[in-house]
Amino acid sequence: MKKWVYLFDEVREVEKAAGGDWDSVKGIVGGKGAGLLDMTRAKVPVPPFFTVTTEACNEYQKTGKFPKGMWEQELVALKQIEKKTGKKFGDPKNPLLVSCRSGAKFSMPGMMDTVLNIGLTDQTAEGMVQLTGNPRFVYDSYRRLVEMFGTVVLGIPDEAFEAPMNAYKAKKGYKLDVEMTADDWKQMVQEFRQVVQREKGIDFPQDPFKQLELATEAVFKSWNGKRAIDYRRHEHIPDDLGTAVNIVTMVFGNMGDESGTGVAFTRNPSTGEEKMMGEYLLNAQGEDVVAGIRNTNAIENLKNQMPEAYEQFMDITGKLETHYKEMQDVEFTIENRKLWMLQTRNGKRTAKAAVKIAVDMANEGLITREEAVKRVTPEQVDALLHPHFDDKAKQNAESSGSIFAKGVNASPGAAVGQAYFDADTAEKMAKESKQDVIMVRPFTKPDDVHGMIAAKGVLTSEGGATSHAAVVARQFGIPCIVGASSIKIDLEKREMAVDHTVVKEGEWISIDGTTGNVYVGKIPMTAASLEEQTELMTLLTWADAICTDPKTRVSPKGWPTRGLQVWANADYPKDARRARSYGAVGIGLCRTEHMFFEPERLPIVQRMILAETSAERTAALNELLPTQRKDFDGLFEAMDGYPVIIRLIDPPLHEFMPSEEDLLEEVITMRVKGETAGLEEKEHLLNAVKGMHESNPMMGLRGVRLSIAMPEIVEMQVRAIFEAAADCAKRGIVVKPEVMIPLTGTVKELEWIQPRLVRIAKAVMDEKGVSFTYKFGTMIEIPRAAVTSAEVAELAEFFSFGTNDLTQMTFGYSRDDAERNFLVTYVEQGILPKNPFQTLDRDGVGRLMKMAIEDGRTTRPNLEVGICGEHGGDPESIEWCHLIGNNYVSCSPFRVPIARLAAAHVALKHKGSVRKQGARPVKKAAARLSATKAKAKSRIATRKAARKAKAASRKK
Ligand code: PEP
Ligand code: MG
Repeated sequence: MKKWVYLFDEVREVEKAAGGDWDSVKGIVGGKGAGLLDMTRAKVPVPPFFTVTTEACNEYQKTGKFPKGMWEQELVALKQIEKKTGKKFGDPKNPLLVSCRSGAKFSMPGMMDTVLNIGLTDQTAEGMVQLTGNPRFVYDSYRRLVEMFGTVVLGIPDEAFEAPMNAYKAKKGYKLDVEMTADDWKQMVQEFRQVVQREKGIDFPQDPFKQLELATEAVFKSWNGKRAIDYRRHEHIPDDLGTAVNIVTMVFGNMGDESGTGVAFTRNPSTGEEKMMGEYLLNAQGEDVVAGIRNTNAIENLKNQMPEAYEQFMDITGKLETHYKEMQDVEFTIENRKLWMLQTRNGKRTAKAAVKIAVDMANEGLITREEAVKRVTPEQVDALLHPHFDDKAKQNAESSGSIFAKGVNASPGAAVGQAYFDADTAEKMAKESKQDVIMVRPFTKPDDVHGMIAAKGVLTSEGGATSHAAVVARQFGIPCIVGASSIKIDLEKREMAVDHTVVKEGEWISIDGTTGNVYVGKIPMTAASLEEQTELMTLLTWADAICTDPKTRVSPKGWPTRGLQVWANADYPKDARRARSYGAVGIGLCRTEHMFFEPERLPIVQRMILAETSAERTAALNELLPTQRKDFDGLFEAMDGYPVIIRLIDPPLHEFMPSEEDLLEEVITMRVKGETAGLEEKEHLLNAVKGMHESNPMMGLRGVRLSIAMPEIVEMQVRAIFEAAADCAKRGIVVKPEVMIPLTGTVKELEWIQPRLVRIAKAVMDEKGVSFTYKFGTMIEIPRAAVTSAEVAELAEFFSFGTNDLTQMTFGYSRDDAERNFLVTYVEQGILPKNPFQTLDRDGVGRLMKMAIEDGRTTRPNLEVGICGEHGGDPESIEWCHLIGNNYVSCSPFRVPIARLAAAHVALKHKGSVRKQGARPVKKAAARLSATKAKAKSRIATRKAARKAKAASRKK
């Protein structure tokens, strides 16, 4: 016969059924049941109990009936409890009372049902009065049973019981429950029984067994109650786990002033401080403590009121924490000075407490450093590093209907400020009027960056997670929400509106970049910085140590065997310094074009673009050279000893020019007004901008294509890089420059541009009389480059996956428009599991990456591989990068700590097993390697010979 019920002393039997694994034990008897069994084994005073399994619950869900034999097993177990307690269920002289408590594998606090005081009837209540001499307690307990049974088992609404209760108290002139006498409670029992009769047409069962049977069934049913289902959806708890039912002997904290009940955490769950935190009430039942109707006492006071019980409680909870090696959340009851433990479970805690408890426990030797690292989630680190709204204030704002709109949570953290609708005004108000500013735009462009930098937060009504606003905000650590499409921005009227709620320029708004919520008005915030969080800093150094273990990944020769490194995307020296202080060990992407947008440089850049001859262009570039050199100098200095990847110019040139519409408007206005001064110049500019127009600029003249069309720009950039590196090297700084060519689609592009850039690099080193190692490599952003990576790697000494573009090109989704137009619906409808611009699509984009690495390393086994798209800071994407053999991930400086922790998590999760993920076995890869190497050699030889022949024919 299948075992559906386990007794309090049957922990071994459950372990056997579960195959000895504690997680599976919890799967069978639920978290609460497992805790009770484990405590009983450890001789902790737990009231005798038995547990009906989750398997029984699942059977019930299928058939709507108790599985065969289950009820009989309950009755047998009940007999054992009677034996242990010396009481008898339903016996009027010495009645046993029990509670019926839900308890799933994962804690679902308050989501399912519980019935207390089962076994009380008119008869047993009288018996209890005789036994305890405390009729007030007995009838209070009895009316609680009728009420709970009525609401939980029979589904009667709470109000049906509250109404007669309130009427009774009013009649008697009572304000509080404590004023109710024994007779009053006895009267309430009768009134509540009438409620049951009225509402359901049945009498409250006077058969204790019927009470138990129906209560068990009600707990089973509550697994599929709305609350429980909603909670499971939110917490990603599977629906097929089922709940166990714990039938536990009742012990009473409401037996008088020698009794009490309480809850406690073994450490402070909000700060992590190593000090018991709890509260209790004398003469009360469990729910009174949490219900907040009476003022509770701090647990320390128990020491004076009941010293022995307190000592015993501290001793037991200390042992429980040592046993579980985790902060415990316990429930206890003292019945006539005797302590009973009713529950122990790992306590929920804030992010701050999670870090402190993990680090403290490792320092105390309770857990290993690896375990400490595992216990903190990347989301918790994220929460700690960004200013966030005060929880209470946020709840108040939400319940009072202050949510204005919802958008894509593009850059985490909270910000409060006055709304301004263009970059210039935002900057002016921040700088001159010293206001806290939120810049609000339909979308942002590179020439809005000054406004974004000046702002506390950015809000756009269009764009997605990799839109300009999102990328730049993340890079600067500015909270940002994009694509809040319900907001209608009226730039003329200087206001925005959602339905009838209008926010005018200068009015206060609050944005939560972590959730994507926009609020009207100001919400108070709490701030954070990494340097001040010593425990977090310690935890992250432990995470790094995990990743540096050279036995983390089993890989072919040349591939990384340690875990991932974390580099940062940084354009300016101050970002690089921040990246270093956050623990980045390299710059994975410096987007040089951002430097071109600085107000004093933009006119020179525009002159360079409009140049009609190469000489004119070179003259403008020569003006830019010293400033670019200075930028790079600062980067190398900040990253002394660490690699710095500098990407050559990438965006289409029209991005550096005024918009065609603006120019046209200006020209028309000038013409209408008859203004001639400067008109010709404007018209010339307009024509030039028109000439640059492309229907698909993202697929147009940009990246390496632009470098081939106008090599002078990248030649200047490479000169600036190497001059800066040489100057730094002379000052004793260790420089490791890596020049990155963007948007390569075919190796031929590299063949065209790379040698002439390498020549410049060498020439500069000769001129300066210094030499240092450097690399030339490429971004893999175009599927063709990924597919032909074996050839690309002939020239490229490193790959960096630009997964923003690679995702765009692989899906064929515009990275600027998709989220606004259809991506949200796709995710809602389950067409896509997640937004692929936030979390790597492993099946498509991820597969291309994997193939690119494997093929690239057949040509160049020690090819350095990184990722610098926005996915580099996303924990799930980081896992994929580890599995496919990346050397590092690169993300915005503010995400570096999150990535360090995530990298350690995957290193621990996949230790030694990385190449299992469908990659080609090592032997095959080695065979392929030599074959491809041979092919590559012959290709290179053929090309060399062709070049020689060409040169020879030119000489002739
Ligand atoms: C990318 O495409 O992933 C990338 C990093 O480049 P950008 O976002 O600048 O196009
Ligand atoms: Mg790109």
